[in-house]
Amino acid sequence: MPTHRTRRIVEILKQELVEARKELEDYQAQAEQPDFEMGDAEGYSTWQAAVALQGHLEQEVEEIERALDRAEQGLYGTCEACGEAIGAARLHALPYTTLCVRCAAKTA
Ligand SMILES: [Zn+2]
Repeated sequence: MPTHRTRRIVEILKQELVEARKELEDYQAQAEQPDFEMGDAEGYSTWQAAVALQGHLEQEVEEIERALDRAEQGLYGTCEACGEAIGAARLHALPYTTLCVRCAAKTA
């Protein structure tokens, strides 16, 4: 049975997921249809930023989905790699993280 805390986390993660997907769609549209003329350096760098953000958001969406899965299994807040508890401060800053500080540092 999911606890009250887990249900609340699932709510928060679902909200984050909706927002991240919306943002991702925006940047995807921009990345797919570059809207600048030859020699338009500013337009080009805006487009490049959209491409970079798109990649970042794709990762974020995946991470949130994984965190949601884990929350639904009652594993929220435990590290996916080592099984240790993830620190409260870290979860507060990154609610969808699935790695503890130590494991995140190893994979970064
Ligand atoms: Zn870990």
